Amino acid sequence: MTIKYEKTIGLEVHVRIKSATKMFCSCKNAVALAWEPNINICPICSGFPGMLPALNEEVVRLGLIGGMMMWCEVNQISNFDRKSYYYPDSPNAFQITQLYNPIVGKWSVKALVNGEEKEFWIHHMHLENDAWKLTHVWSKTLIDFNRAGSPLMEIVTDPVFTNEEDAVEFLREVQKLMRAAWVSDADMDKGQMRCDVNLSIRPEGQEEFWMRTEHKNVNSFWAVTRVIKSEYKRQLKIIEAWGEIDQETRWWDDDTGTSTSQRTKENAMDYRYFPEPDLLPLELSDEFIEEAKKSLVELPIDRRIRYLNDHKLQEDDARLLTADYELSNYFEKLFEITKDAKKSCSYITTILLALIKDSEDEIKITDLKFQPEEIATVINLVNKDELSSTNSKLVIEELFNNGWNADEIVDAKNLRQKNDTAALETIVDEVIANNTKQVVDYKWWNENIFWFFVWQCMKASRGQWNPKLFNEILKKKLG
Ligand code: ZN
Ligand code: MN
Repeated sequence: MTIKYEKTIGLEVHVRIKSATKMFCSCKNAVALAWEPNINICPICSGFPGMLPALNEEVVRLGLIGGMMMWCEVNQISNFDRKSYYYPDSPNAFQITQLYNPIVGKWSVKALVNGEEKEFWIHHMHLENDAWKLTHVWSKTLIDFNRAGSPLMEIVTDPVFTNEEDAVEFLREVQKLMRAAWVSDADMDKGQMRCDVNLSIRPEGQEEFWMRTEHKNVNSFWAVTRVIKSEYKRQLKIIEAWGEIDQETRWWDDDTGTSTSQRTKENAMDYRYFPEPDLLPLELSDEFIEEAKKSLVELPIDRRIRYLNDHKLQEDDARLLTADYELSNYFEKLFEITKDAKKSCSYITTILLALIKDSEDEIKITDLKFQPEEIATVINLVNKDELSSTNSKLVIEELFNNGWNADEIVDAKNLRQKNDTAALETIVDEVIANNTKQVVDYKWWNENIFWFFVWQCMKASRGQWNPKLFNEILKKKLG
């Protein structure tokens, strides 16, 4: 009999808060925009002795909004602690963080995993400052202080994940909600969201956890998946050979897909946490919390579920629309006017997104040359059969390239289909009278010739009328 093992995963996610200035000084917090190293720096964030930190209120507000996007316990009084460590990425050999009393306590994040709604519990969320950035070049190390003192939220989950799909869907949801609330751009490529992966295994059914390992700063969803798979295999191999797992920090090399031990428990850092002497307890007033609540928006996951249940959109479409909050805002606006969820969705996902993708400039949905109202007009015309769906694409292309307004484009390009039944019937009658031979053919042998009549009618109307209507009238008259 083989013993079955299960894996348990806990995540620590660092998310960079996009405040205008850094956490404890008035330097610009524009890490992504800094065009050269060491331009957004001052004595505070460079760790000069005797410099006093001053907590940035915007950081607190944004951090709080990030936490409150889901139901959570807000700690109206929280504290900062000093975490001492001697690694060359910290100017003052410590980090200011919140260990004992973080700003946000228990919290949960909802996610859809393979169509199933799941809820994952977060142990707490705290605020802390980022370290500086080291770049190793040959035998030298270059130091960039631009990032030093940037504000971070650290989201620490309970060991609630049992597989990589759950973990990644959770991370995607965190990323989306941070973006939706304008708390962070959470771009993993740019280091705005980084993830530590803790993993342990145990025999199925056993309550007690075995030793866990930690992989620090895993920086893509794909890497998280790979780390979990590879670390599970590694631990399983050791356990099956009756070995024991060392509690250690491991380093993941994404190029080779392997991990190596960085430090074990014996030489683990002693952080010597103690209350930060230079900062007062952080006290949030009721007004401050109420004010922050005004910035909360509907969760991307709730939108996605609503699109599936209320609008009956396809799984893929609902996911695509809510992957980018601005895109789903656009859909919301369009739907509000058209009340046609399916068409609103398909005009965005198949036509607009294709145009955006094909265009040479980097265009966002928020900087199109026309308002959603114009697409609504197009959809409306299509629904009234005044514009064919093929031609509707042309209209949107024109809007996309040159702006202007849908109604005028339709007329300027002569695309409006006329639907005046009496006039259509006259044309049909004429076509039938002028093609008696074909009428006989159609009735006796060749039903395919039907399209000849449709074509004749379209030709007689110079393409201005709706082929669908001709189709109907012809069917009736030819019997
Ligand atoms: Zn500074
Ligand atoms: Mn941290």
